[in-house]
Amino acid sequence: MQTQLADFIRDTPEGREAEEILRKCVHCGFCTATCPTYQLLGDELDGPRGRIYLIKQVLEGAAPTEKTRLHLDRCLTCRSCESTCPSGVHYSRLLDIGRAVVAERVPRHGGEALVRRTLREFVPRPKLFGLAMGAGRAVRGLLPKSLQDKVPTLRPAGTWPAPRHARRVIALAGCAQPAMAPSINAAAARVLDALGISMVELPGAGCCGAVRFHLDDAEGARADARRNIDAWWPDIEAGRIEAIVMTASGCGVQVRDYGHLLQHDPVYAERARRVSELTRDIAELVLAEGDALRARLGARAQPREPLAWHAPCTLQHGQRIRGTVESLLTAAGYELTPVRDAHLCCGSAGTYSILQPELSGRLRANKLDALLEGGAARIASANIGCITHLQAGTDKPVLHWIELIDSRLGPAS
Ligand code: SF4
Ligand code: SF4
Repeated sequence: MQTQLADFIRDTPEGREAEEILRKCVHCGFCTATCPTYQLLGDELDGPRGRIYLIKQVLEGAAPTEKTRLHLDRCLTCRSCESTCPSGVHYSRLLDIGRAVVAERVPRHGGEALVRRTLREFVPRPKLFGLAMGAGRAVRGLLPKSLQDKVPTLRPAGTWPAPRHARRVIALAGCAQPAMAPSINAAAARVLDALGISMVELPGAGCCGAVRFHLDDAEGARADARRNIDAWWPDIEAGRIEAIVMTASGCGVQVRDYGHLLQHDPVYAERARRVSELTRDIAELVLAEGDALRARLGARAQPREPLAWHAPCTLQHGQRIRGTVESLLTAAGYELTPVRDAHLCCGSAGTYSILQPELSGRLRANKLDALLEGGAARIASANIGCITHLQAGTDKPVLHWIELIDSRLGPAS
């Protein structure tokens, strides 16, 4: 695609990156067919090709409007279009650049600005979020359904094994997950412990930065990244850990991007690159210990159970990890039911379910139909956002897959 970027951006790092991305797009439209918002709304401007055009126009000097912003806001950043694109167009990067320019030129006002500011300040603070979650659980029955949906029932975390192995990994606790589902990281720690790896969380680390990044606050996201790097760096520098483990694929995709996010930071660029390099989804780590896992599982009778697997977009499109969790669940005795349109987003998408509730609700209803039509009694996923969002729409239990593996391994020996 030929581009003539305007003076305000042409010679900036963002301008050069945008130009490179735009040049790759051949306008074929293959991506449109796999875009969830295009499927729902049927408007070219609510699909990737249309959004690419809108961003191109803005970067070439056209004045964005509230309508431009709305079409960009409706994008889930699910990156299904990137998986489909035969030309390797890095759409999400272009979207980040386009959204930042539009947010500056078409500022938000009133309730919309307030909601975004509140989310930016509240969600990434684990203590504050934990207090609110505790209070929400205490009065859950009195809350409106929309808020009840955000307050999942607490599953007991169980014990977290004390570090005892020479092999050691750091886990990101994150911001929302410790309060919403502490059982996930505890289960991951038990599974890794059984495989000969100790998993620890380090004080000082917190939100990965994704919440702020996707709410027009790239600088806040960089501050979150620097804080996490500071918390992890002594262990990385001393060679005490072999990986940084993510149990929420939404955080994983963000931390893997630290190298890019801080590439122009003279102090943090190299550290950020190293952190990205060390980052692994828990599925990658467990798969690498596949023999040990199979040996542990083989020692126990494993009744087959039909299970529906929902691959989060941040796992299958963002990190391109496909088939890994599926193979682990199958090895553990779960029979994965067929799920149609498995590439489509469930509508959670970070804070999308709060900011775009109508579209998000329609996507969830479609996703649950697809997940449950194969007769599964439970659903597994890999991201706290998807798990909470799906659970709010069904009585069938929705769990993190590592909790299912943990339950099959049983108590440590
Ligand atoms: S599939 Fe790729 S090249 Fe084709 S229109 Fe979409 S982004 Fe552009
Ligand atoms: S990221 Fe998802 S919602 Fe956004 S344009 Fe691509 S496919 Fe559509």
